[in-house]
Amino acid sequence: MTRLFCQDHPDTLQLDATVLKARPGAVLLSQHPFYPGGGGQLPDLGIVRWHGGEVPVTGFSEEGGALWLQLADGIEMAGEVRAEVDPAFRQLMRELHTDLHVLNALVFRDFDGALVTGVQMNADGTARIDFDLPDADNDRLRALEPELNDVIAQDLPVLAHHMSLTEAHAEKGLLRSRSVSPPPSSEGLIRIIEIAGLDRQACGGTHLASTGASRPLKILKIENKGRSNRRIRIGLQGL
Ligand SMILES: [Zn+2]
Repeated sequence: MTRLFCQDHPDTLQLDATVLKARPGAVLLSQHPFYPGGGGQLPDLGIVRWHGGEVPVTGFSEEGGALWLQLADGIEMAGEVRAEVDPAFRQLMRELHTDLHVLNALVFRDFDGALVTGVQMNADGTARIDFDLPDADNDRLRALEPELNDVIAQDLPVLAHHMSLTEAHAEKGLLRSRSVSPPPSSEGLIRIIEIAGLDRQACGGTHLASTGASRPLKILKIENKGRSNRRIRIGLQGL
């Protein structure tokens, strides 16, 4: 997959672009600010403005290495357009995604390097993350909530950089998912998200610039899913 604009510029939510190719209800733009989904993060919501008006983007499809936007109307666009991400939705995903890294870091530290077996962020401001944790005490997991909110309050910087797949495999704890790791870019590089002083792990999503940009969190529920899977549900406070 080619490197996404939103990974390097998560704060830039509007881009002017040229229509490269189009068919009814779908368009390929010269550039766009959207995150197409993946790694448990939902695809961005947004619109494309063109000379015929504006149309919601309903989804994304990768065709031959290029990312097409699916449109709500069966129109065929041409010329110059402006692509715009829904700011509230992007902010919500950035908060949930960053907060899941914080939770993941604390669980990894306190529960013998437990790995992630699944993750899903939701549009209602909740998310779930599953860990391979056969013997964990749920009360100990629940007790992480004050420290989660303490890390958010410390406003730790969140940084991104890239390294080779070989380097990523060599650093223990960088590939945190039990079964899948993020696909390398077309240059063979893996993207690393670092929360300063707390955590480093491979990830391809959109995150906050610092943890303090998140609303406080609640741990909503802890469930046993199967013999070894533990599911933690979190939610942003005030939603
Ligand atoms: Zn991430």
